Amino acid sequence: MGAVILVMVITFAAMWGFFKFMYPKPPRHMMPQQGDVITPRECDYCHHSLAEYRGVLEPTSDPDAPLFFCNYEHQADYHANKTYQP
Ligand SMILES: [Zn+2]
Repeated sequence: MGAVILVMVITFAAMWGFFKFMYPKPPRHMMPQQGDVITPRECDYCHHSLAEYRGVLEPTSDPDAPLFFCNYEHQADYHANKTYQP
């Protein structure tokens, strides 16, 4: 009985170590920093939602409705009047 428990403990420890090795914590600079706006917003080009601080906000003449994009590529394609191709 002791051997069974010992093998289970050793297996668990090995699996836990392997899990920690395979899925390391993301670096701190990848996490939202103090003052970042984490509210999800919808991209005006592809309509996917993304936390506001990760995307591109473009001010318009209406200060309450700025344009929002996932990245500069979507911003450029939006202004080139392209349609979104997934
Ligand atoms: Zn987008």
